[in-house]
Formats: sequence, structure tokens, C-alpha cells
Amino acid sequence: MHSPLRLRLDGDALVANWRLLQRLSGAAACGAAVKADGYGLGAREVVRRLAEAGCRDFFVAMWSEARALADLGVSVSVLHGVRDEDMADRPGTARPVLNTVAQVRRWHAAGGGACDVMVDTGMNRLGIAAQDVADGLLDGLAIEVLMSHLACADEESPRNESQRAGFAALAGRTSAKRMSLANSAGIALGEGYHFDLTRPGIALYGGQQCAAHAGIRQVVTPQAQVIQRRRVRAGEVVGYNATFTATADTEVAVLNLGYADGYLRCFSGKGGARFGGVALPVIGRVSMDMTAIRADAAPGLAEGDWVAIDYGLPETAALSGLSQYELITGLGSRFDRIWDQA
Ligand SMILES: *Cc1c(COP(=O)(O)O)cnc(C)c1O
Repeated sequence: MHSPLRLRLDGDALVANWRLLQRLSGAAACGAAVKADGYGLGAREVVRRLAEAGCRDFFVAMWSEARALADLGVSVSVLHGVRDEDMADRPGTARPVLNTVAQVRRWHAAGGGACDVMVDTGMNRLGIAAQDVADGLLDGLAIEVLMSHLACADEESPRNESQRAGFAALAGRTSAKRMSLANSAGIALGEGYHFDLTRPGIALYGGQQCAAHAGIRQVVTPQAQVIQRRRVRAGEVVGYNATFTATADTEVAVLNLGYADGYLRCFSGKGGARFGGVALPVIGRVSMDMTAIRADAAPGLAEGDWVAIDYGLPETAALSGLSQYELITGLGSRFDRIWDQA
């Protein structure tokens, strides 16, 4: 672990966020979406920590993600269902979330076994139709969790109630042992949305989408090392296309972090870093592997020092126009991922 850039990951905050979402889920169990490598934090470490805290239900998108977690012994649902190509190499700890008529038939033909099923209640992304349920498509399946997914959970929309009611109407109509509707934002819509199991993702990792998420803590802080410190004379410029011109002599630190790491060009002249609590604004254009910050306020900042990048998800989304999801999943593979707690 000697990369010049790292993600500091606060394991206490991750667990505290899960416990808060569990409380907000009322009587329902609280699971965890760990797709996209745990939203970029590292799914294995996230699963290990949340399983220890008592989380029992994990969700990934693809079978390769389930295989990477197989030895941890936790129950994993694969949200994209099951293709022919997936049938041969499925860990026993994972089950598919069947989304289409063809997936249901494929699962039946292979002998069935425990599965989950996604029903579309109006998002028109994945899932079988409620009519297919009425027509008996799911008869004979051993369903653990019947799910649906909310399109507009993070806003006030009449679609939420219409999706909730459509989903609630399926209660008792299948063999499902449990029902699950709510993601992070859906949990905050109230008890009627909780059913038996909730499936938060973004809020576990520091995302805040509504007032009920106010107690959610930041989990991820990118940090980068200073490659070079320099003085830029008044009238000189910094970076590609010379978008920054020094109006006075200016101290500049060049960081080992760029858009190839997910620190995108929208932070040019806008983002910020911190050294010993002092705010140091980004100046000029973010390059592929480098970003310049103004260092006048940090006379002690030297080559090799680490700065923390401002990356609180709600604030950074507001600043950049990117979604909290894009911000966290975009952080690349060049970061060492370092947990503050063992
Ligand atoms: C990603 C995902 C979740 C988690 O959503 P968040 O908005 O990150 O809480 C839950 N359910 C399904 C089906 C998902 O695809």
C-alpha cells in the first residue's frame, strides 16, 4: 500500500449509518446494497463489517460480484437475475433476483431452488409485470424475497404511493417469505414502505437525500499526496489551457489526483482540499492525474504531505452537478483503500 492517493474509510461511520437505517426501517430487517464493489469502497470489507453488525441480506448486480463474496458466507441476491452464461458458476450463498419471463422459465427448467423475484410497479426498468403474477408465472417457485423498486423515492411524487399500493396488493399472492421495496430514500417515506426488508445503498456510504438522512455520517474521504510545491509569479498561469492566472505571487501545490481517478474536470477552479483544517481551493484545470491547489494559507504544506479532498456527498453533488452515486462509484482503482478501524 504505497499509492500516492488513498481513500480514508470510516468503518465506525459505515456501521453507524447502517444502524440508523435499521432504526428508520422500523420492524423490517435492514439489508445492504453492495453492488459496484460496495459503491467503490470495496465490497468485501463493507460486507464483513456490516455482517458483524448484524446485517443479513446483501445485494449485488452481477454474478462476478457474488462470486467475489462467496467465501464470506453471507446471503447475496443478484439483482440482474440469471442468464444462460451464469448458470454454470453460481456460489451456493447467492440467489438470483428473477426479472423476466425468460429468467423465470430458465430457473424453473434448471430445477428451481431458492430465488428472489423483482416485480415492476411502474419504473419500467427491471421486473415482471403484476399481471404475470396474476397469470401464475411464479407458481411453483421457492421465492425468498419478492421485490420492487421505487423510481422517485428521493422526491415527493404521487408515483411513490402508487408503486407502494401496487406492490402491497401482491402480498400473499406468491410463495414469497418476505417482501422488499425501499432503498435508502424509500426507507424515509415511512412505515408503509418498509414491508419485511429494506435495501439501502447510498446512505450507508454517506449519501443524504432527505431530512431523515440528517444523521448519516461521511464514510469516504479521498486524500492525495503533494508531488510538487511551487511559487507562481504574478501574471503567470497554471495548468492546461491556462485557465488560472495569478493576480499576485501565489503558492501552489500539485496533487497526485485527477480525472482518471474520478476527480472530474467539473472540480476545475471549484473543488477544495484541506491541510490541518485549512481550506485550499482547486485552481486551474483538473488534469488526468494531477490537480493544483492554492497553498498560500498552508505555509507548512510540503512535497510528500497528504491533503484531504472535500468530498462530503451532498455538498459535493450540489457543487458539481454530479449525483452522489456518480461521485462515490467513480473513485478509481489507483486509490489505496484504508479503513480507519481494523
Ligand atoms: C441500487 C439498488 C438499491 C440501493 O439503492 P440506494 O438508492 O443506493 O439506496 C436498492 N434496490 C435496488 C434494486 C437497487 O438496484
